[in-house]
Amino acid sequence: MKRVGECCQCSLCCRILLLPIPHPAAIQRTSLGIRAPLPIVVNPDLLHFYRMRGLGIGEGSVEVPLPPNAPVRLGRQGKTLVARVPHVCAQLDRQGRCRIHGTPDYPRACAVFPRTPDDLLDVADECTYRFVDD
Ligand code: SF4
Ligand code: SF4
Repeated sequence: MKRVGECCQCSLCCRILLLPIPHPAAIQRTSLGIRAPLPIVVNPDLLHFYRMRGLGIGEGSVEVPLPPNAPVRLGRQGKTLVARVPHVCAQLDRQGRCRIHGTPDYPRACAVFPRTPDDLLDVADECTYRFVDD
């Protein structure tokens, strides 16, 4: 399938974060939010994306600042177990614009989103991309 359309800059994908996790008990609540383990093999692009989003990178884990009792929903993204959290990216300004769009810091993960139809699961209400058969 191929992606068609253009980004309408609704910023919905900047207001939700999906963390791949190995099992449901991998998410820990902390005083600042939640902590999740990093994948065993860490992609540098993923680390950069996490840093730009304002997450803390620890020894083998990632810390997501969240308000107390923010909902954490477990689900699947394709074959991957994920935690869906309502984290707002640190680069999003008050007008809902990305501060680093068009700069060298702009994460590749943001540039290629959505990569698959599954990526639209959480943003289908607003996202103006869609997928069609080749
Ligand atoms: S870096 Fe920019 S495009 Fe990516 S999630 Fe943050 S605000 Fe959105
Ligand atoms: S959800 Fe889709 S249309 Fe909205 S900002 Fe993200 S990529 Fe663009």
